[in-house]
Amino acid sequence: WSSDTVAVVTGANRGIGFEIAHQLAMHGLTVILTSRETGVGEEAAKVLQEGGLNVVFHQLDIVNPSSIETFTEWIQQNYGGLDILVNNAGININIGSENSVEHAEKVIETNYFGTKSMIKAMIPLLRPSASGARIVSVTSRLGRLNGRRNRIGNLTLRAQLEDVGSLSEELIDGTMNKFLEQVKDGTWESGGWPQVYTDYSLSKLAVNAYTRLMARILSDRPEGHKIYINCYCPGWVKTAMTGWAGHIPPEDGADTAVWLALLPELSVSGKFFAERREINF
Ligand code: NDP
Repeated sequence: WSSDTVAVVTGANRGIGFEIAHQLAMHGLTVILTSRETGVGEEAAKVLQEGGLNVVFHQLDIVNPSSIETFTEWIQQNYGGLDILVNNAGININIGSENSVEHAEKVIETNYFGTKSMIKAMIPLLRPSASGARIVSVTSRLGRLNGRRNRIGNLTLRAQLEDVGSLSEELIDGTMNKFLEQVKDGTWESGGWPQVYTDYSLSKLAVNAYTRLMARILSDRPEGHKIYINCYCPGWVKTAMTGWAGHIPPEDGADTAVWLALLPELSVSGKFFAERREINF
């Protein structure tokens, strides 16, 4: 890897995203560390720059279309595009055993719709390469379709979301919008949605499904123009999101993202990983 390889990490001012940026930069890449807040993002970038790493800060709020547009123009003008996109930015308003869906709109807007906007904005800027451009999204085992406890109760919907041939953006968006409607009219509890961390789990389920959909859509690109898109669960990580109650440090939570981003012989797309191994959706 060289500094000619450009990686963009969202929500990289802290937690797992900061560590992903750190580890990618340790491999010699140019890392664009992005954050919705300029002050904390610049501070985070400075820490890595002072360690001699090739890290550049740019503001990016994944739910703000004009922020995405400004970022897109900036990266196009300054680097002619990018090679790796890591969608790490995310929120979970519930901590511990809470399951409030009070903030569901914000959670789904950020984790699913924001991530989707970034994928759409960056795909045209991903540069051709022999080893393929990479998109890696940080999701969660909580968003599994067939999790033992935490799954969608509607069998027809679950089967539709499972069948990659019938997956569509309309189906995934529609599922999120239906859930949000039920949150608003107070009927979500009878809707057969996941039982724990309902809004967060659904937002990650949606990114997982979108990953499989995009892998299908991108699959016929010719050699040299391949884009591999995958997602992974970092485990339960000691960050602000878990109230620092996780099992593992952010360094370990970042590991599979960096592995998926850099593995030279990677040729899988539309898959879900944890601890460097493929797992079921
Ligand atoms: P943190 O809360 O520490 O980090 C989340 C990051 O996302 C912050 O930098 C935050 O910025 C940023 N962010 C939130 N909203 C936006 C936005 N609209 N635009 C840009 N950035 C935004 O948590 P983690 O490091 O734990 O989380 C990172 C990812 O890992 C998330 O996607 C999370 O869902 C996922 N994950 C985490 C697990 C864990 O155990 N910690 C388990 C499974 C998945 P700001 O500082 O401004 O709030």
